[in-house]
Amino acid sequence: MSTESFVGSGDAPPGGASLGTAASLDAAPLAHVVDLVRSGRAVTRPRLVVVSGLTRKVVTQRVEDAFRLGLLRDGGLAASEGGRQARLLEFNADAARVFGVLIEASEITVGVADLRGRLLSTSHEDWSVDNGPDATMARVKAHIDALAAREPRLRAWGIGVGVPGPVDLTTGRLVSPPIMPGWHGFSARAWLREHVDAPVWVDNDVNLMAIGEWTFGPGPTADDMLFIKLGTGIGSAVISRGRLLRGQRGGAGEIGHVHITDAPDAVCRCGLVGCLEAVAGGWSLLAEATRRAAESPVLEQALAERHQVTLGDIGVAAQVGDALVRELIEARANVIGDVAANLVNFANPGQLVIGGGVLRTGDGFLDIISAVIQRRSTRLATDGLVIRSASLDQNEGVAGAALLATENLFAPAALARWIEDGNPLGHAAALQQLPAAYV
Ligand SMILES: [Zn+2]
Repeated sequence: MSTESFVGSGDAPPGGASLGTAASLDAAPLAHVVDLVRSGRAVTRPRLVVVSGLTRKVVTQRVEDAFRLGLLRDGGLAASEGGRQARLLEFNADAARVFGVLIEASEITVGVADLRGRLLSTSHEDWSVDNGPDATMARVKAHIDALAAREPRLRAWGIGVGVPGPVDLTTGRLVSPPIMPGWHGFSARAWLREHVDAPVWVDNDVNLMAIGEWTFGPGPTADDMLFIKLGTGIGSAVISRGRLLRGQRGGAGEIGHVHITDAPDAVCRCGLVGCLEAVAGGWSLLAEATRRAAESPVLEQALAERHQVTLGDIGVAAQVGDALVRELIEARANVIGDVAANLVNFANPGQLVIGGGVLRTGDGFLDIISAVIQRRSTRLATDGLVIRSASLDQNEGVAGAALLATENLFAPAALARWIEDGNPLGHAAALQQLPAAYV
């Protein structure tokens, strides 16, 4: 596989231009001005003077610099406030691109996004992480190259990666991922940095799903959010006051392996017995549905035709009122509902969002989980609580991965470090050392 082709590695890209006078630039006020416009706190020159505390002359110069670098652009005229109309300034989200990568137990999704983290297109493939880290990362690289080739003029400034296991925030490495044998200690960041010229940030997949949904979903972003992923495995993430609950080393939210039962047949992939995932995860659902397919006409037919049962087949069976599927979903949703009710009591979120591939089975899970939470959580925790399914068509994780890249690139300390050069590409190692966004 080619290791050198990457976004626009040849031509001078619009956002990659470097100021000839870099040495004379004062990075801090320039970064401050770009940050104020990008965050929407000040989008005219007069407002920048007021909000930044910089002089009019310095603001004018720094805005000019930002225009030359391609980071800001003209946004038309502001609404009149009686006096002369000020010209609006706009952050140029199209100066470059970032990639979001979501590696799941049984699939890979890669998305390309603008510098606000808005997804422009995605590429997806069914893929098992059992193939091991090197083969998996080679597939990720192939998706990145294919997406990059569509816009060869624009460079990629950063990559955010989500992985289905606990990530040590200080090293970016996976730490004993229960469902990924062979991945312990692996660094997706180090692998990508060897093959791609851009800074890389890595996080747990469910954290990124929560960030994607919190930023781009329908709920007010002021709300505290609890996100529960029901996929092959089960995980959760809590956003409180706009910050992710991380724990000491990044392991917060790992609910897939909390203990539910001592039943000896509930052996989990992590080696323990009776984990939530073993009792109620997507893989346990598929395993039991396959084993008992003869009890369901829909599943029996699916198994005969394609030699496997999928979550989609279970959804079809649920729609026609299949008794076996109803039993399998009810049993699992009740167990998950109990755990979710505990989490709601613990975290008191404004929204509980359920995401993950298990949603392909229909509304059964969400309905039962909602009912259990209403029954089992405290009144204070359920008053005003919105319980809903994820809204980004299964793309919330890859959207969150893209945001991980943009928010780390444009965090004020990061911006000040690279802005004199007009792009962050020569600063990857330094940027990756800075305290990460969403921490
Ligand atoms: Zn387990």
